Amino acid sequence: MQLLDGKFVSEKLKQEITAEAAGILAVKGRKPHLVAILVGHDGGSETYVASKMKNCEKVGFKSTLYRYEETVTEAELLNKIDEINKDEETDGLIVQLPLPKHIDPEKVTEKIDYRKDVDGFHPVNLGRMMRNLPCYIPATPYGILMMLEEYKIETSGKHCVVVGRSNIVGSPMSVLMSRNTYPGNCTVTLTHSKTRNLEEIVRSADIVVAAIGKKNFINADMVKEGAVVIDVGMNREISSVTKSGYKLYGDVDFENVAPKASWITPVPGGVGLMTITGLLKNTLASAKGEIYR
Ligand code: NDP
Repeated sequence: MQLLDGKFVSEKLKQEITAEAAGILAVKGRKPHLVAILVGHDGGSETYVASKMKNCEKVGFKSTLYRYEETVTEAELLNKIDEINKDEETDGLIVQLPLPKHIDPEKVTEKIDYRKDVDGFHPVNLGRMMRNLPCYIPATPYGILMMLEEYKIETSGKHCVVVGRSNIVGSPMSVLMSRNTYPGNCTVTLTHSKTRNLEEIVRSADIVVAAIGKKNFINADMVKEGAVVIDVGMNREISSVTKSGYKLYGDVDFENVAPKASWITPVPGGVGLMTITGLLKNTLASAKGEIYR
């Protein structure tokens, strides 16, 4: 078994991003700029946003965080997005999900100017992705692709089973792995909670992408000898042992699956770090005017 080491790959890519950001500052006279909106005080969201902001600073980006209480109205939020859309010195805008129930996440996603949608959730970017046109690829699938590329994992002709069909991870991942490019050219099976014979299907996979949100859901019996296993899951549990007060678990039973896998991502230290790298790469691409001029 070998590790798909998100820490190593993300650090390497962040060095490249840092050099490019310095180049942009020299030419444009300003840093690439990511704006994030955070509503409420969900522990997971607070951690993810703080990490995104910290990583921006690390690579020489400017970052701005707008915080709102849970009581913010949908109209207020949409107005703020409108204002940021118009700001010429903002390259990327993300709204951390989940949002409170009274705010429609679809309206929020569609309100973001697709040219600043560095999370890659806007229907324009998803549509362009489907057609293999330049676009912002959703940050988590993008991060996974970069990791597969770094370790030169063979994907052509392989059977890739994606477990979970969310708009932000599973569905785009299934599209990307089936595209006629590298990484890609897989035969993809996209599975979900209504899938029959899930264990059997996962067992037939050369590449497994687990994006379910259930601790240790993928066990050793479900994984074929030599499979590549990508664990997207981030399941937080309260812990008295860690400094942060919680511990992260993946969707894969790492301890028992790792001996059977040819390559596997750890949690933490895998896909999570690559997601942030995906976001930074998209923000950089926006600052460079690489996708939409
Ligand atoms: P969602 O809750 O949006 O989707 C979960 C998916 O899993 C759904 O499609 C659901 O099926 C499927 N599912 C649930 N139970 C089963 C089951 N018993 N058998 C088969 N499929 C099942 O989750 P996300 O995609 O947003 O996130 C998944 C995990 O990844 C979470 O732990 C999340 O925290 C983590 N995550 C990690 C990121 C990172 O950077 N590492 C980024 C984003 C998410 P159905 O559609 O039928 O309900």
